[in-house]
Amino acid sequence: MNLSRKLLGQHLFEKLMKMTFYGQFVAGEDQEAIKPLIQRNRAFGVGSVLDYSVEEDLTPEEAERKEMDSCTSASEKETGGATQREKQYLAHRGFGDRRDRVISARTYFYADETKCDQHMEAFLRCIEASGGSSEDSFSAIKLTALGRPQFLMQFSEVLMKWRKFFHQMAAEQGKAGLAVMETRLEVKKLCPPQLCPMGISGANTSLCRCSTVDLLDWNSLIDSRTKLSKLLLIPNMKTGQLEPLLSHFTEEEDLQMKRMLQRMDVLATRALELGVRLMVDAEQTYFQPAISRLTLEMQRKFNMEKAVIFNTFQCYLKEAYDNVTMDVELSRREGWHFGAKLVRGAYMEQEHARAAQIGYEDPLNPTYEETNEMYQRCLDYVLEEIKYSQKVKVMVASHNEDTVKFTIRRMAELGIHPSENKVYFGQLLGMCDQITFPLGQAGYPVYKYVPYGPVNEVLPYLSRRALENRGFMKRAKRERELLWNEFKRRLITGSLFCNPSH
Ligand SMILES: Cc1cc2nc3c(=O)[nH]c(=O)nc-3n(C[C@H](O)[C@H](O)[C@H](O)COP(=O)(O)OP(=O)(O)OC[C@H]3O[C@@H](n4cnc5c(N)ncnc54)[C@H](O)[C@@H]3O)c2cc1C
Repeated sequence: MNLSRKLLGQHLFEKLMKMTFYGQFVAGEDQEAIKPLIQRNRAFGVGSVLDYSVEEDLTPEEAERKEMDSCTSASEKETGGATQREKQYLAHRGFGDRRDRVISARTYFYADETKCDQHMEAFLRCIEASGGSSEDSFSAIKLTALGRPQFLMQFSEVLMKWRKFFHQMAAEQGKAGLAVMETRLEVKKLCPPQLCPMGISGANTSLCRCSTVDLLDWNSLIDSRTKLSKLLLIPNMKTGQLEPLLSHFTEEEDLQMKRMLQRMDVLATRALELGVRLMVDAEQTYFQPAISRLTLEMQRKFNMEKAVIFNTFQCYLKEAYDNVTMDVELSRREGWHFGAKLVRGAYMEQEHARAAQIGYEDPLNPTYEETNEMYQRCLDYVLEEIKYSQKVKVMVASHNEDTVKFTIRRMAELGIHPSENKVYFGQLLGMCDQITFPLGQAGYPVYKYVPYGPVNEVLPYLSRRALENRGFMKRAKRERELLWNEFKRRLITGSLFCNPSH
């Protein structure tokens, strides 16, 4: 790409890209340019998840520097490191460039608060374009675009420590090894007064259940009077005391956290107003507990009437089933609508390498087969739930034909009709059309993730997609065979240039 840009000059290079990679994987430069494609897909029963795909073109060194700077707190910078913190939830220079070994996901690096505001504006325009394009559309967002990632890492660590604490208490009460939703702890034993998390902020005492799930109150999170850093407390398992994760937070850090939550709130509010559903993408495991938790808090607030906010569950995670069942159960108890996108997970190579090199337990399933089993288990659980509930929706986001067939079969067995609009399918634009379009024509709700953005700004993301396609040849081979068969069929029947909708 670099070479052809030099040889052809900017103008010709852009033209070439539009005729090849860009034209294949990206819908257009802006909201207006993508309309024809969206309408054409709609005519075949295929909806859109708009995904503004601009990515900064940073060198690996720049990316590393930005990451180290934005994932390290002021107190850690002062002391030169945090010994109390878990290695998994600290930034490591060797893995600072989060784009490394990640192909189909866009990556954001934190520059400053103004840049986050710009990302929010871009997402807002995307939501507005989705609202204008059809009545049942989605828009996708990434939380790492909306604030300083340091907060996501710290909050993830806090959540994981609370979860560990929960499991330790379960073991002490003789309940080790049970599935998470079957573990019922005796509250008195679990909740000595000094460990009641809500004692900290003096907030809602009804939340004082001391479970990892009911740790935070959304309203107090976005309330400008609350000091957010006070909520980043972890239980010390030896002393039974709550301790702050870091020695101190600056005023600026506190404000940065608040602004991130406020940006999410602005996006969700706009999506609700325009009837657009918001999909929050899943990211790396050291951010994901916080991303998932904050998304859940948005669901609690915005999914009272219908599923507006969709969380993403990565089934390559060992804990995927626990995550799905806990959230479904919580939605059931509290009466809000559960919306989920199920994926296998995009960061596998990076995650494996990071765990091995830094030295913590690998959070991912060890084999592809185990990931497949996990996907089916999670999907089956959600489909069973859908059978009995009007308040559950799922998107099966996969290019795997067997997964799609499995879903269709289970839907038929459970009596879930495609027209009920409770189970959606999702594939990326430019990939696996042989799955997407027949699904659409057969009346299944199916969506393309539709990236868009100016050629030059989408190129960094696109060049990684090009790499993906090198490793994607097995599936491409199948696509090529199918195209070749269709070409021959049309040649024989004399309908080479027929309109495919006929
Ligand atoms: C519409 C859409 C939205 C998406 N959104 C997200 C998102 O928000 N977050 C995200 O992380 N990903 C997302 N993805 C990407 C997704 O997670 C997968 O990386 C990608 O779709 C390939 O998985 P598959 O099910 O399509 O195909 P398959 O080829 O069947 O599965 C490949 C996947 O299986 C898993 N896998 C492969 N080998 C092993 C192994 N040895 N051990 C364990 N697991 C293994 C990996 O997750 C790998 O990506 C999205 C994909 C789509 C289509």
